[in-house]
Amino acid sequence: MSAANTGLTLALSKGRIFEETLPLLRAAGIEVLEDPETSRKLILPTNREGVRIVMVRASDVPTYVQYGGADLGVAGRDVLHEQALAQGGSHGLYQPLDLNIARCRMSVATRADFDYATAVKQGSRLRVATKYTEIARQHFAEKGVHVDLIKLYGSMELAPLTGLADAIVDLVSTGGTLRANKLVEVEQIMDISSRLVVNQAALKLKRDTLRPLIDAFSKAVTA
Ligand code: ATP
Ligand code: MG
Repeated sequence: MSAANTGLTLALSKGRIFEETLPLLRAAGIEVLEDPETSRKLILPTNREGVRIVMVRASDVPTYVQYGGADLGVAGRDVLHEQALAQGGSHGLYQPLDLNIARCRMSVATRADFDYATAVKQGSRLRVATKYTEIARQHFAEKGVHVDLIKLYGSMELAPLTGLADAIVDLVSTGGTLRANKLVEVEQIMDISSRLVVNQAALKLKRDTLRPLIDAFSKAVTA
C-alpha cells in the first residue's frame, strides 16, 4: 500500500499551505523539525517517531496521496476539483475535512475596458487563458458560453494585457495583483480553501494512527 508500511507520511506543498498547516499539526502534537524554505531535504522529520512530511508541488499532492506515496496530504479545492474533472469526475481520495486555510476564490477576470457582460450576452467566442482548463471548461459550458481555452502555467494576468486572451480564470484573494495589472474580477466561480485528503487503503490499514490525527485537526479547525 503506502510509502512506508509503518508510520505516517503527510504530503504538503511549500508556501502558504505548509505555513497554514503548521498550527494544525502543532495542535495535534506534531512539530516539524526542519524549515522547507531553508532545508534542501524533501522529506522532513517531525518530533513524532514515524511521522514524516514529504514536500511536493501543490498540484502533485493529490497524486501522491491517491497512489500511496503519502498517506494523507493537504490540497486546495482548486487542485482537487481540476484533477477530479480531468479524471472524469472523481478520484479515489477520502476528503474528511475542510481545513479552512489558504482561502481564496476562483474567478473570471478581464481588462477593465473589456465588456464581458455584452460579449457573453451576444454569444461571442471568448478566448480564456488559465491553468485550470477543466474548471473553466465546465464553468463556461454551464453558462452556454463558447470558449477557446489557452492553457498557461504562470502569470495569467499577462494574457489579457498582451492580447493573448479576452479573459482569465484564476485564483483571487485580495485582488491586489489584478488591480496592479488593471484587470477586473467580472465573475466568481467558486470559493477555495484547502482540504485534508487521505489515501483509501491507509484509512483502513492505518486507522488507529490516522483517526486521532484527523480528530485533532478537526478540533483545531473549529476552535
Ligand atoms: P507555484 O506557485 O509554485 O507555481 P502553486 O501556485 O500551485 O505553485 P501556491 O501558490 O502555493 O502553489 O498555491 C497552493 C494553493 O494555495 C493553491 O492550490 C490554492 O488552493 C491556494 N492559493 C493559491 N493562491 C492563493 C492566494 N492568493 N490566497 C490564498 N490561497 C491561495
Ligand atoms: Mg502560486
